[in-house]
Amino acid sequence: MIEWIAFDADDTLWENERYYRDTQEKLGQIVAPYLNGENIEKILYQTEMENIPHYGYGLKSFGLSMIETAIQLSNQTISSREINQILHLIRDMVNHPVEVFSGVIETLEQLKSGYKLVVITKGDLLDQERKLANSRLSNYFEWMEVVSEKDEATYKSLLNRHGIQPESFLMIGNSLRSDVLPLVNLGAVGVHLLQAYTWEHEKVKNPEDHSQNYYSVNHISELPGLVNTLNS
Ligand SMILES: [Mg+2]
Repeated sequence: MIEWIAFDADDTLWENERYYRDTQEKLGQIVAPYLNGENIEKILYQTEMENIPHYGYGLKSFGLSMIETAIQLSNQTISSREINQILHLIRDMVNHPVEVFSGVIETLEQLKSGYKLVVITKGDLLDQERKLANSRLSNYFEWMEVVSEKDEATYKSLLNRHGIQPESFLMIGNSLRSDVLPLVNLGAVGVHLLQAYTWEHEKVKNPEDHSQNYYSVNHISELPGLVNTLNS
């Protein structure tokens, strides 16, 4: 019996990855003189992957990776004026309004009386808190946890801490790797929200063995129907 429903935040409740891609494009324009035909997307992604163990996920980590990429590409000749332009790109992302996806409010309205709703996200604490506040969705949720990694160990300790049985827990998110598979492995229900924009790092191959605890939906508005079916 599902009692708890957890939502991923970025690219599940609101737009996120699209801003990162737009910013990456602008970085490409700033470092264009140093590129020599190299692919900025590929180089930046490589730097980001190297930096995750040191800085974690989110905006600040992304910003440091952009600056590091620019310094490397320019052989340490990039000007402080150009670094400043990159800092402005980050600031623009911090100040960007939160765009809640269509159907999210209606879905939360339908679920709020029957289930305990929560948010589990990774990224920068301050940035995620700001986005939740700006989304005006806070009142729907019992709590939000900002974690540094979304793996089985993290979810396990989180469920323990809140005294939640995995069988009563469902999580929905756009990342099969972070929001779905770790929970399915713990005996909870995972729902994959198929999204046009998902960060490269979050993409993994669909598991061959589609366990009965793993579902996918094309739109968040399909969730109430799915949960009702699971509970009946
Ligand atoms: Mg996400």
